[in-house]
Amino acid sequence: MPSKEQGILKIFSVLLCVGVLLAGTSFAEDIHSSWQQMKGQYFVVYYRADVPEDFVQMTMDTSQEEFKRVTDNLGITNNEEWALEKQVKIYIYSDKDDFVKNGGQATWAHGVAFAQAKTIKLYPDPQGFFDTLLPHELGHIIFRDYIGYTASVPLWFEEGVAIYQEKAKRLGAKKQVKETIENGQFIPLSQLSGVRLYKNSKDQVVDLFYAESASAIYYMITELGEQEFYMLCRELKNNTPFTAALHKTYLRFKGIDELNQAWVDYLQG
Ligand SMILES: [Zn+2]
Repeated sequence: MPSKEQGILKIFSVLLCVGVLLAGTSFAEDIHSSWQQMKGQYFVVYYRADVPEDFVQMTMDTSQEEFKRVTDNLGITNNEEWALEKQVKIYIYSDKDDFVKNGGQATWAHGVAFAQAKTIKLYPDPQGFFDTLLPHELGHIIFRDYIGYTASVPLWFEEGVAIYQEKAKRLGAKKQVKETIENGQFIPLSQLSGVRLYKNSKDQVVDLFYAESASAIYYMITELGEQEFYMLCRELKNNTPFTAALHKTYLRFKGIDELNQAWVDYLQG
């Protein structure tokens, strides 16, 4: 029997997104063309006719609030060198079936962000739509808009940044990753950087990938320091390669292996 805690972890583990994995692919409007729309300052919400109006309004209001919170979290609120280039499009599908079939998404995904197209696709999922999914996807869009589309960043880093925007930040991830160190399933950051996720990726792989991404970024921001993290993001924005940006920001890390060791020490300590 799984414990209650494992049950909770499992719930979080299915609240996933494909995220910027799809950033480089061209965004295509889906074949189902009947969308209603609501326009705001930073957002345009497109929605199916069967999505309740108050749900749409709450999506708009929450997105505006989360925009402020996410830019604060990433240290870019008052950065005069950045302003959101154009409005973010949020598509709300009728349900999971509509999202998978007409939106062309993986069955294990609950939302997706196309960073360059500034587009988010979601459906009214009762599991944490406003607290988890929306902030996560906005995190992808804002982070990429800020650092630019030419910056080369490992997928685990992008996912970790997006997860950090979720209200609960998947705090169970630390315990989960610690257990993988003990049972030998842990993937070091150097190898995690080579992991890609696909529509047919196994749940176990997807689950571990997100847990490690969440834990590594949580460690970097809360233990290594917010200011240092902001500095790292600014280096990435200036197109400094990822490893060089790490070294410039955290002098004691020559590269990703030293960061990995420091994170593992923290998990075990
Ligand atoms: Zn994501």
